[in-house]
Amino acid sequence: MPKTAKNLTYLRAQNQGAILKALLLGKEISKQELAGRLNLTPMSISYITNDLLEKGIITENQEKPIKKDSPGRRALALEIVPRRLLAIGVSISRRHLRIALSDLCGEPIRLISHRHSPDLTKETLTDMILEEVEDLLKLAPREHILGIGVSCIGLVDIREKTVVATTDFFGIQNWPIGKILQDRFNLTCYVVEDMKAAGLAEYYYGAAGALNDFIYLGVTYGLGAGIISNSKLLEGNRGFCGEVGHTTLYHDGKNCGCGNRGCAEMYLSVGAILERMGLEDWQDFADLCRKSPRDPAVQAILRDLATLLVNIVNCYDTEAVIIGHEGALLSEEIFTQLNEEVNRRIMARAVKKVEILPSAISEKIHALNGAAVIFSRLFGGEFKL
Ligand SMILES: [Zn+2]
Repeated sequence: MPKTAKNLTYLRAQNQGAILKALLLGKEISKQELAGRLNLTPMSISYITNDLLEKGIITENQEKPIKKDSPGRRALALEIVPRRLLAIGVSISRRHLRIALSDLCGEPIRLISHRHSPDLTKETLTDMILEEVEDLLKLAPREHILGIGVSCIGLVDIREKTVVATTDFFGIQNWPIGKILQDRFNLTCYVVEDMKAAGLAEYYYGAAGALNDFIYLGVTYGLGAGIISNSKLLEGNRGFCGEVGHTTLYHDGKNCGCGNRGCAEMYLSVGAILERMGLEDWQDFADLCRKSPRDPAVQAILRDLATLLVNIVNCYDTEAVIIGHEGALLSEEIFTQLNEEVNRRIMARAVKKVEILPSAISEKIHALNGAAVIFSRLFGGEFKL
């Protein structure tokens, strides 16, 4: 293909991706509004949206005229057609493997969940994933499925599509799961660390709303962040950024599986909090936060969490921190206290206020995080539809 044609194809895919993202995040947008928002000519918008309409990827909602753009003509809201563009998400957390087929609108069509057996190995996990993906692929026409997104705990090398290392996870390391899936199913596959994938899912489907700068802080059996900055996921050079769970809270603190000491994860992961509280179940902790938010032990945890939040906000100048996974169950009173404490301490307190919010999709996060990895690539122009 000549270079110019290649560039034009790429440009078109990029504009196509930008239009789909704008339709997902904005509600009831007409062609005219799209042109304004994306800074594209009405002709370019028409060219791409007509193509997407023809392919059945988007539709014009006849029930929702937005406003008259010229005498006698109605501007109709464009909408993404449910169940037309799909992705398979593989979500590997410390305790579960979940595999889902989800659509671009954020609806899981099928979700399969397995709790890890105590004798899990890299090989048995790989076999289980291959088997389940194979079954999910039968549920929809292949041309509707864009690819497979893997969300996995641990250090993930995005270039090599490999899980490089994990802490306390069946000794799994150097696991090229992305390439294994790509070779087996001949579908595009990306692998991203789980909190980054969750950040993308929250951005498209959750509490972020119109926010283009926020940090997703996942409080679960690990602790980590997905940083959305200027509408994009921050990945770092190889995908290793956002490891806030392994920033130091106490210099001479508890030994951590990462090799350092006093890491935030040793004090603020679900397991660590339950141990500090002498509780067995996260729901018990959530209940205690609701009934006795001023309990000294709860306050000690809140102080550590606020310390971590202030550090993150100072580093990334974010608009909001969305606390997700099990952390989303913390009580309203706890969120109020966190908001007060963090806004009292951040460096830019005189000129900005940061919001600390619970995730709006904590129930669906494992069904959507892997798929969101693929959809982010679609929005970035990596798929030619
Ligand atoms: Zn650590």
